[in-house]
Amino acid sequence: MPLRTHTQLPAGLLDCSADELHDHLGGPTLIQLQGSRNPALFVSVLLHGNETSGWDGVRRYLQETTGLPRSLTLFIGNTEAARAGMRALPSQQDFNRIWRDAGGEGGALASAVQAAIADQHFFASIDLHNNTGHNPYYSVVTDLEPHNLGLAYLFSDKAVFVEEPDTVLTRVFTGRCPAVALEVGPVGDPRCADRVYDYVARCMTLGEVPVAAPEAFSLFRTRVRVHIQDDVGFCFEGENGSDDPVPLVLTGGVEAVNFHELARGTVFGATRLPVSSVFRVLDVDHRDVTDDYFEHDGDAILLKENVVPAMYTTDPYVVRQDCLCYFMERMAL
Ligand SMILES: [Zn+2]
Repeated sequence: MPLRTHTQLPAGLLDCSADELHDHLGGPTLIQLQGSRNPALFVSVLLHGNETSGWDGVRRYLQETTGLPRSLTLFIGNTEAARAGMRALPSQQDFNRIWRDAGGEGGALASAVQAAIADQHFFASIDLHNNTGHNPYYSVVTDLEPHNLGLAYLFSDKAVFVEEPDTVLTRVFTGRCPAVALEVGPVGDPRCADRVYDYVARCMTLGEVPVAAPEAFSLFRTRVRVHIQDDVGFCFEGENGSDDPVPLVLTGGVEAVNFHELARGTVFGATRLPVSSVFRVLDVDHRDVTDDYFEHDGDAILLKENVVPAMYTTDPYVVRQDCLCYFMERMAL
Protein backbone atom coordinates (compact mmCIF):
# COMPACT_ATOMS: atom_id res chain seq x y z
CA MET A 1 0.00 0.00 0.00
CA PRO A 2 2.50 2.68 -1.11
CA LEU A 3 1.63 6.33 -0.63
CA ARG A 4 1.02 8.45 -3.70
CA THR A 5 2.16 12.06 -3.51
CA HIS A 6 1.25 15.07 -5.60
CA THR A 7 2.12 18.75 -5.51
CA GLN A 8 -0.86 19.72 -7.66
CA LEU A 9 -4.42 18.54 -7.75
CA PRO A 10 -4.68 15.59 -10.15
CA ALA A 11 -6.90 16.56 -13.09
CA GLY A 12 -10.55 15.77 -12.49
CA LEU A 13 -10.04 14.89 -8.84
CA LEU A 14 -12.55 17.40 -7.53
CA ASP A 15 -15.24 15.86 -9.72
CA CYS A 16 -14.87 12.54 -7.90
CA SER A 17 -17.24 11.51 -5.16
CA ALA A 18 -15.65 9.55 -2.32
CA ASP A 19 -16.44 6.20 -3.91
CA GLU A 20 -14.71 7.25 -7.16
CA LEU A 21 -11.42 8.32 -5.58
CA HIS A 22 -9.79 4.90 -5.54
CA ASP A 23 -10.09 4.42 -9.29
CA HIS A 24 -8.78 7.96 -9.83
CA LEU A 25 -5.89 7.91 -7.34
CA GLY A 26 -5.05 4.24 -6.92
CA GLY A 27 -4.83 4.36 -3.13
CA PRO A 28 -3.97 6.57 -0.15
CA THR A 29 -2.65 9.93 -1.38
CA LEU A 30 -0.90 12.99 0.03
CA ILE A 31 -1.43 16.22 -1.91
CA GLN A 32 0.68 19.26 -0.97
CA LEU A 33 -0.65 22.50 -2.42
CA GLN A 34 1.22 25.80 -2.22
CA GLY A 35 -0.75 28.80 -0.98
CA SER A 36 -0.03 32.46 -0.23
CA ARG A 37 1.33 31.79 3.22
CA ASN A 38 3.01 29.06 5.22
CA PRO A 39 3.04 26.86 7.21
CA ALA A 40 0.45 24.58 5.66
CA LEU A 41 -2.82 23.45 7.15
CA PHE A 42 -2.92 19.64 7.33
CA VAL A 43 -6.31 18.10 6.59
CA SER A 44 -7.12 14.39 6.52
CA VAL A 45 -10.27 12.82 5.09
CA LEU A 46 -11.63 9.29 4.70
CA LEU A 47 -9.52 7.54 7.32
CA HIS A 48 -12.88 5.81 7.62
CA GLY A 49 -14.12 5.07 4.11
CA ASN A 50 -17.84 5.57 4.71
CA GLU A 51 -17.37 8.96 6.44
CA THR A 52 -17.57 11.08 3.32
CA SER A 53 -18.55 14.54 4.58
CA GLY A 54 -14.92 15.60 5.04
CA TRP A 55 -14.05 14.95 1.41
CA ASP A 56 -17.28 16.57 0.20
CA GLY A 57 -16.62 19.75 2.21
CA VAL A 58 -12.94 19.96 1.25
CA ARG A 59 -13.50 19.37 -2.44
CA ARG A 60 -16.16 22.06 -2.58
CA TYR A 61 -13.77 24.44 -0.83
CA LEU A 62 -11.07 23.66 -3.42
CA GLN A 63 -13.56 24.00 -6.29
CA GLU A 64 -14.69 27.42 -5.14
CA THR A 65 -11.34 28.88 -4.04
CA THR A 66 -8.94 30.40 -6.53
CA GLY A 67 -5.58 31.22 -4.99
CA LEU A 68 -5.28 29.39 -1.67
CA PRO A 69 -4.73 31.84 1.22
CA ARG A 70 -2.50 29.27 2.95
CA SER A 71 -0.67 26.13 1.87
CA LEU A 72 -2.70 22.97 2.29
CA THR A 73 -1.54 19.40 2.82
CA LEU A 74 -4.39 17.00 2.17
CA PHE A 75 -4.24 13.33 3.09
CA ILE A 76 -6.89 11.14 1.47
CA GLY A 77 -6.98 7.91 3.46
CA ASN A 78 -8.86 4.70 2.85
CA THR A 79 -9.97 5.13 -0.76
CA GLU A 80 -10.52 1.41 -1.17
CA ALA A 81 -12.99 1.24 1.70
CA ALA A 82 -14.61 4.45 0.41
CA ARG A 83 -15.25 2.73 -2.92
CA ALA A 84 -17.09 0.00 -1.01
CA GLY A 85 -18.89 2.48 1.27
CA MET A 86 -17.32 0.84 4.32
CA ARG A 87 -15.44 2.12 7.36
CA ALA A 88 -12.64 -0.34 6.48
CA LEU A 89 -12.57 -3.49 4.37
CA PRO A 90 -12.70 -6.69 6.46
CA SER A 91 -9.08 -7.42 5.47
CA GLN A 92 -7.83 -3.96 6.51
CA GLN A 93 -6.66 -2.28 9.69
CA ASP A 94 -8.65 0.68 10.98
CA PHE A 95 -6.85 3.66 9.39
CA ASN A 96 -7.26 5.68 12.57
CA ARG A 97 -5.46 3.04 14.65
CA ILE A 98 -2.22 2.71 12.66
CA TRP A 99 -0.27 5.78 13.69
CA ARG A 100 1.91 4.27 16.36
CA ASP A 101 3.76 0.92 16.38
CA ALA A 102 1.44 -0.63 13.79
CA GLY A 103 2.59 -3.50 11.61
CA GLY A 104 1.30 -4.64 8.23
CA GLU A 105 0.22 -2.44 5.37
CA GLY A 106 -1.34 0.09 7.73
CA GLY A 107 1.92 0.55 9.59
CA ALA A 108 3.80 0.95 6.30
CA LEU A 109 1.33 3.60 5.17
CA ALA A 110 1.59 5.50 8.46
CA SER A 111 5.40 5.45 8.20
CA ALA A 112 5.27 6.70 4.61
CA VAL A 113 2.99 9.61 5.53
CA GLN A 114 5.13 10.56 8.51
CA ALA A 115 8.30 10.40 6.41
CA ALA A 116 6.73 12.61 3.75
CA ILE A 117 5.89 15.35 6.28
CA ALA A 118 8.79 14.82 8.69
CA ASP A 119 10.61 18.09 7.98
CA GLN A 120 7.53 20.29 7.76
CA HIS A 121 5.92 22.72 10.11
CA PHE A 122 2.15 22.88 10.14
CA PHE A 123 -0.26 25.61 11.11
CA ALA A 124 -2.74 23.09 12.49
CA SER A 125 -4.04 19.60 11.77
CA ILE A 126 -7.68 18.64 11.23
CA ASP A 127 -8.85 15.03 10.91
CA LEU A 128 -12.39 14.83 9.53
CA HIS A 129 -14.90 12.15 10.57
CA ASN A 130 -18.65 11.58 10.71
CA ASN A 131 -20.17 10.47 14.01
CA THR A 132 -22.57 7.65 14.69
CA GLY A 133 -25.79 7.97 16.69
CA HIS A 134 -27.68 11.15 17.48
CA ASN A 135 -24.79 13.10 18.89
CA PRO A 136 -24.20 16.77 18.31
CA TYR A 137 -21.17 17.67 16.23
CA TYR A 138 -18.09 18.04 18.42
CA SER A 139 -14.30 17.91 18.50
CA VAL A 140 -12.02 15.24 19.91
CA VAL A 141 -8.75 16.38 21.46
CA THR A 142 -5.88 14.26 22.70
CA ASP A 143 -4.00 17.16 24.27
CA LEU A 144 -5.28 19.97 26.54
CA GLU A 145 -2.81 22.56 25.29
CA PRO A 146 -4.70 25.92 25.06
CA HIS A 147 -4.32 26.38 21.29
CA ASN A 148 -5.47 22.81 20.79
CA LEU A 149 -8.65 23.63 22.68
CA GLY A 150 -8.90 26.85 20.68
CA LEU A 151 -8.83 24.91 17.42
CA ALA A 152 -11.55 22.65 18.84
CA TYR A 153 -13.65 25.59 19.99
CA LEU A 154 -13.59 27.12 16.50
CA PHE A 155 -15.65 24.11 15.42
CA SER A 156 -17.99 23.46 18.35
CA ASP A 157 -18.60 24.50 21.94
CA LYS A 158 -18.35 20.79 22.84
CA ALA A 159 -15.20 18.71 22.92
CA VAL A 160 -14.22 15.32 24.28
CA PHE A 161 -10.77 14.66 25.67
CA VAL A 162 -9.54 11.12 24.97
CA GLU A 163 -6.34 9.47 26.09
CA GLU A 164 -7.00 6.08 24.49
CA PRO A 165 -6.31 4.80 21.95
CA ASP A 166 -2.96 6.51 21.42
CA THR A 167 -2.69 5.23 17.85
CA VAL A 168 -4.89 7.91 16.24
CA LEU A 169 -3.60 10.32 13.59
CA THR A 170 -4.05 13.37 15.85
CA ARG A 171 -1.23 12.03 18.05
CA VAL A 172 1.28 12.45 15.22
CA PHE A 173 0.97 16.21 15.68
CA THR A 174 1.31 16.36 19.46
CA GLY A 175 3.90 18.99 20.31
CA ARG A 176 4.08 20.03 16.66
CA CYS A 177 0.93 22.05 16.02
CA PRO A 178 -2.65 22.26 17.33
CA ALA A 179 -4.52 19.14 16.23
CA VAL A 180 -8.14 18.00 16.44
CA ALA A 181 -10.37 15.27 15.11
CA LEU A 182 -13.82 16.56 14.20
CA GLU A 183 -16.99 14.48 14.43
CA VAL A 184 -18.95 16.63 11.99
CA GLY A 185 -22.34 14.91 12.27
CA PRO A 186 -24.05 11.82 10.82
CA VAL A 187 -23.20 10.41 7.39
CA GLY A 188 -25.76 11.52 4.82
CA ASP A 189 -26.68 14.81 6.48
CA PRO A 190 -25.76 17.49 3.88
CA ARG A 191 -25.15 20.06 6.62
CA CYS A 192 -22.03 18.11 7.58
CA ALA A 193 -20.21 19.00 4.37
CA ASP A 194 -21.25 22.64 4.84
CA ARG A 195 -19.76 22.53 8.33
CA VAL A 196 -16.50 21.16 6.94
CA TYR A 197 -16.42 23.77 4.19
CA ASP A 198 -16.93 26.63 6.67
CA TYR A 199 -14.37 25.31 9.14
CA VAL A 200 -11.64 24.67 6.57
CA ALA A 201 -12.27 28.06 4.93
CA ARG A 202 -11.94 29.72 8.32
CA CYS A 203 -8.74 27.90 9.27
CA MET A 204 -7.19 28.70 5.89
CA THR A 205 -7.63 32.45 6.47
CA LEU A 206 -6.71 32.59 10.18
CA GLY A 207 -3.47 34.37 11.06
CA GLU A 208 -3.04 32.31 14.21
CA VAL A 209 -4.95 29.68 16.16
CA PRO A 210 -6.71 31.36 19.11
CA VAL A 211 -6.95 29.94 22.62
CA ALA A 212 -10.35 28.73 23.86
CA ALA A 213 -12.61 30.89 26.01
CA PRO A 214 -13.23 28.53 28.97
CA GLU A 215 -16.57 30.04 29.99
CA ALA A 216 -18.14 29.24 26.62
CA PHE A 217 -16.66 25.79 26.24
CA SER A 218 -17.85 22.37 27.46
CA LEU A 219 -15.08 19.83 27.76
CA PHE A 220 -15.79 16.21 28.65
CA ARG A 221 -13.78 13.16 29.50
CA THR A 222 -14.98 9.60 28.95
CA ARG A 223 -15.31 7.63 32.17
CA VAL A 224 -17.02 4.35 31.32
CA ARG A 225 -18.63 2.28 28.55
CA VAL A 226 -22.07 0.82 29.21
CA HIS A 227 -22.73 -2.63 27.70
CA ILE A 228 -25.82 -4.80 27.85
CA GLN A 229 -24.98 -8.39 28.79
CA ASP A 230 -24.95 -10.54 25.66
CA ASP A 231 -27.65 -12.98 26.70
CA VAL A 232 -30.16 -10.40 27.94
CA GLY A 233 -33.06 -9.42 25.69
CA PHE A 234 -33.87 -5.71 25.70
CA CYS A 235 -36.11 -3.12 24.12
CA PHE A 236 -36.67 0.60 24.43
CA GLU A 237 -39.68 1.85 26.37
CA GLY A 238 -42.90 1.60 24.36
CA GLU A 239 -41.21 -0.44 21.61
CA ASN A 240 -41.80 -4.01 22.72
CA GLY A 241 -43.27 -5.49 19.54
CA SER A 242 -44.22 -8.85 21.09
CA ASP A 243 -46.64 -9.91 23.82
CA ASP A 244 -43.87 -11.49 25.87
CA PRO A 245 -42.24 -9.33 28.50
CA VAL A 246 -38.64 -8.33 27.74
CA PRO A 247 -36.09 -8.76 30.55
CA LEU A 248 -34.68 -5.24 30.18
CA VAL A 249 -36.66 -2.17 29.15
CA LEU A 250 -34.55 0.94 28.52
CA THR A 251 -35.99 4.35 29.09
CA GLY A 252 -36.40 5.85 25.63
CA GLY A 253 -35.31 9.31 24.72
CA VAL A 254 -31.85 9.22 26.20
CA GLU A 255 -30.55 9.49 22.65
CA ALA A 256 -31.92 13.01 22.59
CA VAL A 257 -29.97 13.98 25.70
CA ASN A 258 -26.53 12.88 24.60
CA PHE A 259 -24.06 15.45 25.95
CA HIS A 260 -26.55 16.69 28.58
CA GLU A 261 -26.14 15.84 32.23
CA LEU A 262 -28.46 13.23 33.78
CA ALA A 263 -28.78 13.63 37.54
CA ARG A 264 -28.28 10.91 40.08
CA GLY A 265 -31.66 9.18 40.61
CA THR A 266 -32.73 9.44 36.95
CA VAL A 267 -34.57 6.31 35.77
CA PHE A 268 -32.39 4.59 33.17
CA GLY A 269 -34.41 1.42 32.62
CA ALA A 270 -36.38 -1.35 34.31
CA THR A 271 -35.70 -5.00 35.05
CA ARG A 272 -36.49 -7.66 37.61
CA LEU A 273 -33.02 -9.15 37.23
CA PRO A 274 -30.02 -8.01 39.27
CA VAL A 275 -28.43 -4.93 37.71
CA SER A 276 -25.10 -6.71 37.24
CA SER A 277 -26.74 -9.42 35.17
CA VAL A 278 -28.20 -6.95 32.64
CA PHE A 279 -25.49 -4.26 32.41
CA ARG A 280 -21.73 -4.41 32.28
CA VAL A 281 -20.12 -1.02 32.90
CA LEU A 282 -16.39 -0.91 32.20
CA ASP A 283 -13.99 1.86 33.12
CA VAL A 284 -10.97 2.93 31.06
CA ASP A 285 -8.91 0.15 32.65
CA HIS A 286 -11.62 -2.39 31.69
CA ARG A 287 -12.65 -2.95 35.31
CA ASP A 288 -16.29 -3.82 35.95
CA VAL A 289 -17.78 -0.86 37.85
CA THR A 290 -21.49 -1.59 37.19
CA ASP A 291 -22.49 -1.28 40.83
CA ASP A 292 -20.96 2.21 41.03
CA TYR A 293 -23.38 3.52 38.39
CA PHE A 294 -26.73 1.74 38.75
CA GLU A 295 -29.03 0.75 41.62
CA HIS A 296 -32.49 -0.78 41.88
CA ASP A 297 -35.59 0.95 43.21
CA GLY A 298 -38.29 -1.70 42.85
CA ASP A 299 -38.05 -2.70 39.18
CA ALA A 300 -36.60 0.65 38.18
CA ILE A 301 -32.87 1.04 37.52
CA LEU A 302 -31.66 4.40 38.77
CA LEU A 303 -28.43 6.23 38.11
CA LYS A 304 -26.21 6.31 41.18
CA GLU A 305 -24.07 9.16 39.84
CA ASN A 306 -24.51 12.30 37.77
CA VAL A 307 -23.44 11.32 34.26
CA VAL A 308 -23.27 12.82 30.78
CA PRO A 309 -24.22 10.18 28.18
CA ALA A 310 -22.60 10.14 24.75
CA MET A 311 -23.04 7.87 21.71
CA TYR A 312 -26.20 6.45 23.29
CA THR A 313 -27.76 4.45 20.49
CA THR A 314 -31.18 2.87 20.01
CA ASP A 315 -29.85 0.74 17.15
CA PRO A 316 -29.84 -2.86 18.52
CA TYR A 317 -27.10 -3.88 16.09
CA VAL A 318 -24.72 -1.18 17.36
CA VAL A 319 -25.64 -2.01 20.98
CA ARG A 320 -24.61 -5.64 20.43
CA GLN A 321 -21.52 -4.93 18.34
CA ASP A 322 -20.18 -1.97 20.28
CA CYS A 323 -21.99 -0.63 23.34
CA LEU A 324 -25.15 1.12 24.49
CA CYS A 325 -23.41 4.37 25.38
CA TYR A 326 -20.57 6.05 27.16
CA PHE A 327 -20.82 8.03 30.35
CA MET A 328 -18.66 11.13 30.44
CA GLU A 329 -17.85 13.71 33.06
CA ARG A 330 -17.45 17.41 32.56
CA MET A 331 -13.91 18.68 32.96
CA ALA A 332 -13.01 22.05 34.41
CA LEU A 333 -10.77 24.14 32.19
ZN1 LIG B 1 -14.28 8.01 11.82
